[in-house]
Amino acid sequence: MKRLALVSLLAIGAASPPQADVVIRGGTIYSGADAPAAVGDVEIAGDRIVYVGPSRATKARQVVEAKGKIVAPGFIDAHTHPDSYIRSADPKVRLNLPWLAQGVSTIVIGVDGYGTPDVRSDARKLERSGIGTNVVPFIGFGAVRQRVLGKADRAPSAAELAEEKRLVAKGMCEGAYGLSAGLFYPPQSFAKTEEVAAVAREAGKREGMYDSHQRDESNYNIGLIASTKEAIEIGQKAGARVHIAHLKALGVDLHGKAPDLIRTIAAARAAGQDVTADQYPWLASGSSVDASLVPAWAVDGGYKAMIARFDDPAAMAKIRHEMRENLRRRGGADSLLLIAQGQPWTGKTLAQMATTWKLAPIDAAIRILRVPNKAGTDPAGAAVASFNMAERDVDLIMKQPWVVTSSDGSNGHPRQYATFPKLYQDYVRKRPVLTIGEFIRRSTGRTADMYRIKDRGYLKAGAFADVVVFDPTGYAPRADFIHPREPSAGVTALFVNGRLALKDGATTGTAAGRALLRPTPAECQ
Ligand SMILES: [Zn+2]
Repeated sequence: MKRLALVSLLAIGAASPPQADVVIRGGTIYSGADAPAAVGDVEIAGDRIVYVGPSRATKARQVVEAKGKIVAPGFIDAHTHPDSYIRSADPKVRLNLPWLAQGVSTIVIGVDGYGTPDVRSDARKLERSGIGTNVVPFIGFGAVRQRVLGKADRAPSAAELAEEKRLVAKGMCEGAYGLSAGLFYPPQSFAKTEEVAAVAREAGKREGMYDSHQRDESNYNIGLIASTKEAIEIGQKAGARVHIAHLKALGVDLHGKAPDLIRTIAAARAAGQDVTADQYPWLASGSSVDASLVPAWAVDGGYKAMIARFDDPAAMAKIRHEMRENLRRRGGADSLLLIAQGQPWTGKTLAQMATTWKLAPIDAAIRILRVPNKAGTDPAGAAVASFNMAERDVDLIMKQPWVVTSSDGSNGHPRQYATFPKLYQDYVRKRPVLTIGEFIRRSTGRTADMYRIKDRGYLKAGAFADVVVFDPTGYAPRADFIHPREPSAGVTALFVNGRLALKDGATTGTAAGRALLRPTPAECQ
């Protein structure tokens, strides 16, 4: 702030030209708002943007020539699993390259119900160790429930519920943005709607969001639409904004259901409720041949127990029958891409291997599963990308004005390294599902507004200087399902809190990220 005052003094100070620490000169500027692009300069002093407008003769220590480049607010990723990066013992890894190389400066963490309620101490720890991106923390319902109830499959007692609520209130008072839940996952799945709503109320009271990885994104238990209605009901009862994570219609039985899904959310919005969502631009989720096809009872007891059942003709008949149905629900043998490294089947679909081996697809799957790893504890090469979403559903969800960009980035899936440039290349340039302006808006300002992240997401004087400069043709993904850890290309410069964090696709070694805690809510006194 001191710097800001100094710069404006100098700017007013008669003859001498204005000064800044950094000038990003002559780029095509998208401010993050619903506004057309304009060519001009962005100036930074300290950790703030001090000027956005037509080019002028400002003196600066550092000049980034951005002619022909796009200049935008650093991207905000609404749903991430970055723990192996930001919590690594290696300071270079903590720079968080997978995200920086995409132009992402801020990531939402603690999602799917896993965030710690000890928000302040965790924020301190991350900042002290040095991280490359800003983080926006959520408290996780799962972490809270497990601390109080362990893995118990029952409702909490009155005292236990009070303790769950106390932990959420504490986390909210320490600066969390809300409560996340992952009701699909045990032990979170053991909680009934009422319990989740009662706990989420502690977030709602303090203007926090309820962020939901739904109980069912497919037809695994209550079904996608009932599950969406449950999230909306929890928000109503909790008095909290509802946000649905990685919104999708998963599995062949759900293909074409996006209109129903959107109608359900639009109805709640029309009735005055604040319901939003994020989405990743991938048709495949990461899984394995066993997890996606073999029934749960047949993998119980581990790999050796599964193989023993394969060798038992009576059990095998039953397994084969259930695997056939699971393969149908997944979308058939063409929809499973085998991505384990160093195998004869790497990069082939299950259908292709069935043809090669002259086997039925289920028998090809079993042949793959029968090859053990060195330790004999797991199949050696069972990883798959499961193409289980329909393009028409993804497109329709993408166009909704209440949906923002997320990666759901986790290890092993290319979305960790390539989501934002893939969205840009596939859904802006190759097929015009979004305009460039919409792509940027839903990856910056709209996300900041939705999560109420103060002074981020926009290029304007006074905002924090998170700024990306990228090449409109060269900005592209390099990771794919076979090579999931290739950093994306095309980001010329990324500033995080006014400091250059990435230059020409390589990290600068500067850990400029901060834990962005919310100001203490009024209810916390
Ligand atoms: Zn999730």
